[in-house]
Amino acid sequence: MSSPARLKIGCIADDFTGATDLANNLVRAGMRVVQTIGVPQAPLDTEADAVVVALKSRTIPANEAIAQSLDALRWLQAQGAQQLYFKYCSTFDSTPAGNIGPVTEALMGALGCDFTIATPAFPDNKRTVFKGYLFAGDVLLNESGMQNHPLTPMTDPNLVRVLQAQCQRKVGLIDHNVVAQGEAAIRARIATLKAEGVRIAIVDAVSNADLLRMGPALSDMALVTAGSGVAIALPANFGLQPTDQAAALPAASGLQAVVSGSCSVATNQQVLHFIQSGRPALAIDPLRIAAGQDVRAEALAWAQDKIAHGPVLIYSTAEPAAVKSIQGQLGVEQAGAMVEETIAGIARGLVELGVRQLVVAGGETSGACVQALEIEQMRIGGQIDPGVPWCHAASPAAPQGLHITLKSGNFGTPDFFTKAFTALA
Ligand code: ADP
Repeated sequence: MSSPARLKIGCIADDFTGATDLANNLVRAGMRVVQTIGVPQAPLDTEADAVVVALKSRTIPANEAIAQSLDALRWLQAQGAQQLYFKYCSTFDSTPAGNIGPVTEALMGALGCDFTIATPAFPDNKRTVFKGYLFAGDVLLNESGMQNHPLTPMTDPNLVRVLQAQCQRKVGLIDHNVVAQGEAAIRARIATLKAEGVRIAIVDAVSNADLLRMGPALSDMALVTAGSGVAIALPANFGLQPTDQAAALPAASGLQAVVSGSCSVATNQQVLHFIQSGRPALAIDPLRIAAGQDVRAEALAWAQDKIAHGPVLIYSTAEPAAVKSIQGQLGVEQAGAMVEETIAGIARGLVELGVRQLVVAGGETSGACVQALEIEQMRIGGQIDPGVPWCHAASPAAPQGLHITLKSGNFGTPDFFTKAFTALA
């Protein structure tokens, strides 16, 4: 086992695809990044500038989110992390009980950190913060659809108020007038806020230029809390510049396949595009799974002779009306869990058949596939589309490793499923 250099940034992400999004931004800014699935049991055994520990703590009870986050913190500290980054969603997904506030305060307490920032701004993805108000695209957060989110409805766009409701510590604002003036003004504002007893500041940012102006003022902050946007500005504090080498992965080889359990609009277009390009595609019928048919074995038998000639697609992706009908017959959770398990089993089987370049579509589906492949950590490579990088991971089903990309539902252009393999070649 080589002895790795001290980690520059240790990151804790509150969900799986969000972790990949953050890792992708750090790589683009010049860091070599590893993402782990949960808190590792063993020390890091590879060179990396940053590690992103992916938790699933966004909507679990606050005390459990705190316990998991502190566990991640201890592991990252043991790897020598010089700065900590707590990553949440760019729409600040949380309830009045948390978990952004409680986890932030627990991390501050554990680190002895007397001041931190909080900004979900991610201008590349049209999330901007102005005067403390969060915009999604052209509208305020509470008009963006997020007010109807089933788990974390966001009805107040004012992040100072939202975060204060979740925190014991006083929350303040570093507004755009200050950010626009750059590092010295931001540092002066932090000193003023501290003197006023403020411990956490929402920071405005409406562009990547704002994030880059903010970066130098964060160089000595033990803890940064943010969406993935701020990550573009931190590697420079460690003397790193964007370079292709940060995204270097082993050379790709082996067979190619796509599995999709996402029913989002973008994925439906991607499945259609793949089929229309004349490539082999097989639809999975959830009702046949429910009837006890061995859909996994059928799919693998179908794939076996085709896959030598080029990428195949196996999908449960369907239009909203079809999904509703299945959910009506099987129940929402039941249908979801059954399809996830089948697709994950197929992904494992495909890798056992020799697939070494695997595209997975769907956030929950990705979680299930990574679990079925027993992947514990992934090295993050180059971006295929915003927020979606190729990764390289070891799996007992592929002892020399495989290339895998995890596409959350609404990411990617219509030709993503073919473009991904071209990008890797
Ligand atoms: P996304 O990232 O697009 O939200 P996810 O994988 O997170 O995709 O979620 C999609 C969910 O829908 C999964 O639980 C999946 O098993 C389920 N699902 C997929 N296909 C179907 C289908 N045809 N009918 C019902 N549920 C489905």
